[in-house]
Amino acid sequence: MSECIFCKIASKEMKSSIVYEDDEIVAFKDIEPKAPVHLLIIPKKHISGLTELGKADELLIGRIVGLSKTLAEQFSFSQCGFRLVANSGPDAGQAVEHIHFHLLGGRKFGWPPG
Ligand code: 5GP
Ligand code: ZN
Repeated sequence: MSECIFCKIASKEMKSSIVYEDDEIVAFKDIEPKAPVHLLIIPKKHISGLTELGKADELLIGRIVGLSKTLAEQFSFSQCGFRLVANSGPDAGQAVEHIHFHLLGGRKFGWPPG
């Protein structure tokens, strides 16, 4: 998608601080971090959000969840705890319409979220 900022980050047309990349997935630092470590994990393929996921995307999403565990270990908050969040639609405050998973760590998080 030509106007999608996360597609531009995935293609390196737009600069970001990438911490992981493979042929299907990119993880990079959120520009406005909400925790000491705040990463965004995205598929390179444009999918606008959770509601647009198809059966064929299940393996990809499973890989993203698996990567969150690996990154939590790399950033040393695997044992003390962390949060993996995907906002979907206006009520959840989804601002970027390219599916993304927030991986947050390095502080305590409240529940329920606001
Ligand atoms: P959402 O509210 O859609 O779940 O989260 C979008 C996230 O993308 C926000 O946390 C926001 O700070 C982040 N973000 C928006 N634009 C950019 C950008 O250009 N670069 C990076 N690295 N993060 C961005
Ligand atoms: Zn996109």
